[in-house]
Amino acid sequence: MNAAPADQIRLLDLQAIDSKLDQLAHRRRSLPEHAEIDKATADHTALKDLVVAAQAQQGDTARELTKAEQDVEQVRARAARNQQRLDSGAITSPKDLENLQHEIGSLAKRQGDLEEVVLEIMERLETAQTRVTELSARLEHSTVVLTEAEGRRDAAFAEIDAEAEKVKRDRETVAAVIPADLLKTYTKLREQQGGVGAARLYQRRCEGCRTEFSITELNAIKAEPADKVVRCENCSRILVRTADSGV
Ligand SMILES: [Zn+2]
Repeated sequence: MNAAPADQIRLLDLQAIDSKLDQLAHRRRSLPEHAEIDKATADHTALKDLVVAAQAQQGDTARELTKAEQDVEQVRARAARNQQRLDSGAITSPKDLENLQHEIGSLAKRQGDLEEVVLEIMERLETAQTRVTELSARLEHSTVVLTEAEGRRDAAFAEIDAEAEKVKRDRETVAAVIPADLLKTYTKLREQQGGVGAARLYQRRCEGCRTEFSITELNAIKAEPADKVVRCENCSRILVRTADSGV
């Protein structure tokens, strides 16, 4: 393949631009915010689950408390009814009176037991409420952490993308004047060779693969006409000779 030396040198300009774009894409992918966001998202999701579970626990305990309070109320009402019957003087049979007094005594004991249950549930409810409050605060904090990290990422994206847009416009200008066949070969080599399709020959080295050429090899390269597109024997990239190539 042949190409004017000036076009070959433009290829180096294009390579520099493409490398710059690759760097920007790499910077965009490897922002520290990505890991921060992943972690904050995981924390947020885990906390959301914990809050839901704690709220369910709180709800269950609140229902349990209502039920226990109703149990106390029932026993209290029954004891009050018995007490009324006793106070009314309507019951005269000593056996009935004894039974009634016995039942009132049993109910008082039962009420005491049930009131202890109520207190125990109230303690658990308080613990459950505290847990909901704490976890909700942590959830809120994790939302802030996540939102902040996303904000920093988006700001970095905006900066990188603006720069990339500028570089892309430069690329269009440079690429527009490079012959199509040379551009095609460069593009193919760039894909195959880790993003570098054209390299400068500098101080006997291919700047693509850093191979140092022997004098014989260098003489062979020198002997090629200036408009011949030379390829590195080692990495097969387009080897561009420039004024400071030393050939
Ligand atoms: Zn090479």
